Amino acid sequence: MWAISAAVRQGFVRVERAGEALVGHVGPLFVTIYVVLVGTGMWIFFVCIFPSQMVIPEALQNLAHTKSPIHILLALPGALGTSVMQEPASMMQCIASTICFLYIALMMIWSYYMVCTIPPGTVMDGLSKSHPEKRLGPGSSLWWRLHYQQVAAAANLTPCNTGSPFMKDCGAVENFPATIEQDLTARYRFCKKCLPITMETALALLPPDLRLREKTNRREHFLRARQERAKQNSYNHSEDISAPQGLFDNIDDEGQAEISAWLGPEEAHQIVLPPKPERSHHCRTCKTCVLKYDHHCPWINQCVGLGNERYFILFMLWFGLGTMIFSYMGWGLAYQAFRHPKTWSSMLVHRILYLAIWAKALVMGLAVIVFAMWHLRMIARGETSVENQDNAHYARSAKKRNETFVNMYSLGWLRNFQVFFNVGPGMAHKYYTLLLPVKIEPYSDGWHWAKRQGLNGVHGGVAPEEEFTDDEGEPAEASPVS
Ligand SMILES: [Zn+2]
Ligand SMILES: [Zn+2]
Repeated sequence: MWAISAAVRQGFVRVERAGEALVGHVGPLFVTIYVVLVGTGMWIFFVCIFPSQMVIPEALQNLAHTKSPIHILLALPGALGTSVMQEPASMMQCIASTICFLYIALMMIWSYYMVCTIPPGTVMDGLSKSHPEKRLGPGSSLWWRLHYQQVAAAANLTPCNTGSPFMKDCGAVENFPATIEQDLTARYRFCKKCLPITMETALALLPPDLRLREKTNRREHFLRARQERAKQNSYNHSEDISAPQGLFDNIDDEGQAEISAWLGPEEAHQIVLPPKPERSHHCRTCKTCVLKYDHHCPWINQCVGLGNERYFILFMLWFGLGTMIFSYMGWGLAYQAFRHPKTWSSMLVHRILYLAIWAKALVMGLAVIVFAMWHLRMIARGETSVENQDNAHYARSAKKRNETFVNMYSLGWLRNFQVFFNVGPGMAHKYYTLLLPVKIEPYSDGWHWAKRQGLNGVHGGVAPEEEFTDDEGEPAEASPVS
């Protein structure tokens, strides 16, 4: 099974590379191809396959012989009335099956629309591109705190017992295991591939709890320096040793101006590398760091990451279901079109077009289903495409040392599914929302993650020098697959 999936992935990579070699930026082209193919497929299904396979009252069948669309529209109410009166049972069947297929078509369109338009989330923009004012909405301290609580709940931790300075309304925080605090602490490195930014911007990108840590360090540094200076210049009181403005305030909702004030002008404008939280990776096509990066996908013209990964999976599943229904129900007509071309009677769809779309649906559908299965397996294991490769490497090296690799992001297969889709007990949404066309935010903010308890917030069985940093070069084959 996994050998087939590897072959399918290789196939996708080849098609994408060929496209890239031919036209450069293939995203918009691939999206157009997809929309045209699926649109044509849906049209063929409803005008050709559906009438040939489903129970349809006679009055409605006769309508199909009317050639002009205007006549069909005018005659439709009458035909519907006659059908309800004369053949109520088949009319009910017809209505039920129409609703069912329209629902599948709607979910196919909706999930694809969502995966193409919801941003995967980048380090620079966060999960939404439309929040210029970070004090409200995404990026505000309220928003961060909500996600922090969601992460703690996802990891089955009680957020009030974490003792984090970030959780304010918790009261007594004695007797909490120190590891829980470590589990919830975000880890980050710096991206050498992104464009450097100023220190004030870099600090503004950090979640408030991490920024507070930076600020606390600076505070201690300042107090020490002041003590030193006071000792040395004990007779020179004219020297200014007051703290930079805001250094001793704890404001969650700091904008660049406040940060700049306590950094001081010199440090504020210092050029540094942008931060890169754990699980994010640099995309060379998008030229930025993407939160919980999975891969860059030309079929949706953007990356698959934290913000849109759930729609990516839903899209593959609905697409797989739709194309399988299409191929199965359309098989009879495909056989007829191929073996008995003279008996082909559809006025609206040409025989060759029908055959081409039918074959395409079958091949693409099977390929996407295999690919979806591969992704579902990774979700069950709590890893992304990139992590799948990294973890395989870690597991091999751990084995050589007679140790066992433990993925810190894996909380058991069921919990992994629940946190991935943000549904189920302890998560923000109910299971049934998976079947509805509704927008659902991820449980994580891209910085804090639900981690397996007792590992101190790191993988088990990985030597520190062995950890991948994303600076080693491009990850082998993981990123370009779609
Ligand atoms: Zn980067
Ligand atoms: Zn990308």
